[in-house]
Amino acid sequence: MKIEIYYECPICHQSWATQSAAIACRNQHPVIEKKWANCEVCGQGWNITYWGEKQAVELARKCEQEHEAKGETEELSRKTFFLSGGTKGKYYPPRKESK
Ligand SMILES: [Zn+2]
Ligand SMILES: [Zn+2]
Repeated sequence: MKIEIYYECPICHQSWATQSAAIACRNQHPVIEKKWANCEVCGQGWNITYWGEKQAVELARKCEQEHEAKGETEELSRKTFFLSGGTKGKYYPPRKESK
């Protein structure tokens, strides 16, 4: 029996005899651009590649407007902000209560 060691590129799963060849293979793959229109309130997103820019933007805006209509924009934005680690939503500082 014979143990065979080979290195697989994590992207295209092609096998290589050396680690550096596999890393070189991984590095030569182009990056994939992802474009999403995100609702700034709940963080829900629409894939622009799928929906087309116009429709994705429209859907994200509609979502934002719906939050606004429900009066939940501020509260939900803050929640989304914390849940996403600050990558989505918006931080509204808590309002100071006047006493
Ligand atoms: Zn590869
Ligand atoms: Zn939303």
